[in-house]
Amino acid sequence: MAKINTINDCQLIFLGTGGGRFTVFNQIRKSGGIWFKLNGKLFAIDPGPGALVEAIKHKLYPSKLAAIFLSHRHLDHSADMNAIIESMTEGGHKKRGIVFAPREATEEDPVILRYNRKNFEIVNQTEFHTYEVNNVRIGVKAKHMHTTETYGAIFSFQYHNFAFIPDTLYFDDLPELYRADIVIMNTVFCHERQGFMHLSSDDVYKFLEKNCPKKFIMTHFGLSFLKEKPWEVAKKISDETGCNVIAAYDGMVVDI
Ligand SMILES: [Zn+2]
Repeated sequence: MAKINTINDCQLIFLGTGGGRFTVFNQIRKSGGIWFKLNGKLFAIDPGPGALVEAIKHKLYPSKLAAIFLSHRHLDHSADMNAIIESMTEGGHKKRGIVFAPREATEEDPVILRYNRKNFEIVNQTEFHTYEVNNVRIGVKAKHMHTTETYGAIFSFQYHNFAFIPDTLYFDDLPELYRADIVIMNTVFCHERQGFMHLSSDDVYKFLEKNCPKKFIMTHFGLSFLKEKPWEVAKKISDETGCNVIAAYDGMVVDI
């Protein structure tokens, strides 16, 4: 493994913090996903609608992508996959990048166009498997409880790590699976809603009881959560649990 001596730039950039149909398809919050920058290389997580436009606005050029991690095929997560891939491979002319995506997103009802599948590698995530790309280890965890095949992961590099918990119904193993310095959770709802396989801020309390990371970031807000002002909800959770909880906003940058 090549050695990195210094991390000169290492950041998480929230290109979009909207989740669910109403927020995303009315663009009440943006939906470009979470991008991770490490020593000039980029990783994109869930490039939803507008990801390419937002990335370029933030000077995050897809030609620098080492990998794209797609948690699942729902459009609020995957809509810009083809645009980002086309930009990453410079129109299919440059061999570049690995796309991690669930099998259901590449085979069953594919969100990556078949004609566009050249000059990059597709890896279908396997539960509890760790992959390595450009000195970043991507540890995929258990399959989530969602309406389509969905995976989250812990991204580790040098002495740092962050966890990404995409859409799922809450399950008891979540806090144990996702132990990391920074934990990012897709909390679509403020309060649990029967019949929807999504996390809520109520689940954040359950999670923090067992796993209180250095920084806990809520994102992917549905409309009903936005009405409750996520930053105020985050402060209330921080005050009540003693953990450092923040609500992500569009364009938020977290230095690691
Ligand atoms: Zn979903």
